[in-house]
Amino acid sequence: MKIEPKAVKVREVFESYVDNGDDGVFAYGGKLAVRPAYQREFVYNQEQSEAVIHTVLNGFPLNVMYWVKVGNDSYEVLDGQQRTLSVMQYLKHKFPITLDDKKYYWDALPDDKYNAIMNYEFMVYICEGTESEKLDWFKVVNIAGEKLSDQELRNSVYTGEWLSDAKRHFSKRNCAAKGLSDKYITGDPNRQELLEKALKGICEYQNIKDITEYMAIHKSDKDADELWQYFQDVIHWVEKIFPKYYKDMKGLDWCHLYNEYHSNTYNSSEISQEVKRLHEDEDVQKPKGIYEYLLCKDKDPFAERLLSLRAFDKRDKMAAYSRQNGICPICKQHFEFDEMEGDHIKPWSKGGHTVQDNCQMLCKDCNGKKSDKY
Ligand SMILES: [Zn+2]
Repeated sequence: MKIEPKAVKVREVFESYVDNGDDGVFAYGGKLAVRPAYQREFVYNQEQSEAVIHTVLNGFPLNVMYWVKVGNDSYEVLDGQQRTLSVMQYLKHKFPITLDDKKYYWDALPDDKYNAIMNYEFMVYICEGTESEKLDWFKVVNIAGEKLSDQELRNSVYTGEWLSDAKRHFSKRNCAAKGLSDKYITGDPNRQELLEKALKGICEYQNIKDITEYMAIHKSDKDADELWQYFQDVIHWVEKIFPKYYKDMKGLDWCHLYNEYHSNTYNSSEISQEVKRLHEDEDVQKPKGIYEYLLCKDKDPFAERLLSLRAFDKRDKMAAYSRQNGICPICKQHFEFDEMEGDHIKPWSKGGHTVQDNCQMLCKDCNGKKSDKY
């Protein structure tokens, strides 16, 4: 990992400065992406931006900035984006500063003050190294300044056409992935959370160790079509298996559920009826578990745990205990109340409910041996 300090004049950074909105912000003669395309916009308020200009005007030091070398003579700002933007925007007439109670846009400044800004030097560290070196090091640097999320850090390392295309699909609020999945998957595309979820899903699907490894494998691909198709498959599968939408479907780990169950066959109209029935069942205390329960119940004998079925309360159990005179109906031994557990006489899975008449007390041993717990 090579980290070289470099003093860069504001005048040089301002050269060919251009703000292309979602397509990125560039400066330094086009060689520096102050903000790459489809990246979150950090927003300083007016007061913070003005504070940056006053610091510069006074010749005081700003914190060091970090640029990542991404090509022969091209760079991305890793840390210092908002400070850089504040100075650039001031020079673009976006806001005035206050001096001696008067407002000054850049063109109203006296020459000496204007020159003080243009000749001010940003203290920049230019980082160059392998992807994994950069990533490890950025995690350490990322304690000051504008804090980057894990996925934003990875994005600052694995740059290239694959990433640009991935960000085109998964970043920014109006991106296609958000439109497609908003009812099902939570995550702020601006913070790259949607991209992160899709990547986590495809890694599990393809048995790849982690997101970093996936990005390392694909960074030179010309597009991110594989990832985008995978993500669409996930959502289309959900819509197919669970055709009726319920609000509690949002926020489940649908990528994981797809990976785990998509090769099984389900009857979606039966599933629809079951989803409705389980939502109406008062014993189901965790409706969010209904979907995975239905996907796995035929193969997983413990699937009911996903529903957090209501247990008998003390009054139900006391009534059963006295009705049985403290005798366990299976082993016929006598036990104290707190040595016994409430059990469904008719199991929940066969339509029995958590009501007093359906409660019996079993000793812990016998209850533990019962496979059909509910
Ligand atoms: Zn017993």
